[in-house]
Parts: sequence; C-alpha cells; structure tokens
Amino acid sequence: MRIVLLGSPGSGKGTQASCIEKEFGIPHISTGDIFRDNISRNTTIGAEAKKFIERGLLVPDSLTVSIVESRLVEEDCNEGFLLDGFPRNIAQAEALDKDLEKMEKKLDAVVNLEVSAETIIERMAGRRICSDCGESYNLCFLKPAVDGICDKCGGKLYIREDDKPETVMNRLNVYKNQTFPLIDYYKGKGILISVNGEQPADKVYGDICRALERFK
Ligand code: AMP
Repeated sequence: MRIVLLGSPGSGKGTQASCIEKEFGIPHISTGDIFRDNISRNTTIGAEAKKFIERGLLVPDSLTVSIVESRLVEEDCNEGFLLDGFPRNIAQAEALDKDLEKMEKKLDAVVNLEVSAETIIERMAGRRICSDCGESYNLCFLKPAVDGICDKCGGKLYIREDDKPETVMNRLNVYKNQTFPLIDYYKGKGILISVNGEQPADKVYGDICRALERFK
C-alpha cells in the first residue's frame, strides 16, 4: 500500500508510523527524520535544512521534493511506502501526484490524525527523544522507565530544538496555513481517512487498521 500520514506536529504520526511500518511491511519515510539525519552528519542538505527547521519553517519545496523523489525510487518502495511529514503543502502534494503518475502508481490512502490544538501543545512540551537511537517518549503518556534515559538503548533523552515553545508556535502556524488545506485536497480525491488522534495510541492504531481495510 502507498499511504500518507497527515497530522499536526505532535499528533502522534511517528508512533503510528512505526506500527503501520511493522504490520504492513512498508518502509516508513519521514522527511523530518531524513533532515535530522543530514544535520547530524553535517551534510550540505543538512546545513540548508537546519536554517529553516530551527525557525519552525518549512524547508523549501525544491529540496524536500527532490529528497522524496530519490527515496521513492529505491527498491524497498516497490510494494508501497508510508510517507510521514510529506507532503506538507499543496505544491508538494501535486509534485507527489505527478511523480506517482510517471511511475504508473497511485496513493491508496491518506490517514489524517485529528488532535486539538490544546492537546498538541501539551504533548509537544512533554516530548523527549533518545540522542542515540532516536526513540520517542512523552512525559504525558509514554514515560521512560528511568527519568531522562532511553528504555531501548540507555541513551540520554533530549528535547528537540524545534520542540521549544517559541518554535512550536511557528510550526503550528505553518501547519494551519500550509498543511491543513491538504485535508480538503485528499478528501476531494476520495482517499482521506480521518481518525480521532486524542485516543490512546493503541486505539488510534486500531481505528487506522480498520479504516485501511477498505482501501486494500
Ligand atoms: P517533523 O519531524 O516531520 O515534525 O519535521 C521537522 C521539521 O523538518 C519541520 O518543522 C520542517 O522544518 C522540516 N520538514 C519536514 N518535512 C518537511 C516537508 N515535507 N516540507 C518542508 N519541511 C519539512
């Protein structure tokens, strides 16, 4: 299956993406992860992306689309993929449509996680990431067993630079103005699935799986 996961920052996309990746056996492609990986390796792409990410702004479409295009032609995407954090505006969605058309493929479903602004702000303040393996935790609902330490690998947990309050407000505005219109875009194509993302993660996942059955 070819799936897009939509939702505001902090809506739980990363958590759901890991479950979908395992169950459906498709690669999880997160543009945010690709940028963070480039930043940590000090690549040219990382240096360019960093300027925008640290201000809570979108990385320019030209760079983002080309990264996704080169990832989608890799062999592990032949049977499908799960895009997380891409597309983030209409221009990116149209670019994706064109690329898929060229490959004679199409998106099967777009999963939209609906979460209120209040919940998002609370969740983002509690988010912690492992500095070694990248695992995500949340002090509100997914606490590590030992404060500040990753359950999986023992690495130190940190707050993502762009999860700091001043940047979070920019990210939420960008979402509202640029990403939110994608909901109508995909509704119009008849492939939008909206799921209540306020529920516990396992319930959200159950709803996603039930809804995806219709699109298989
Ligand atoms: P995320 O981990 O998906 O929340 O992404 C972190 C940051 O990476 C975003 O706030 C943007 O600055 C950048 N980013 C991720 N995906 C995209 C995208 N599709 N288009 C532009 N910028 C992106």
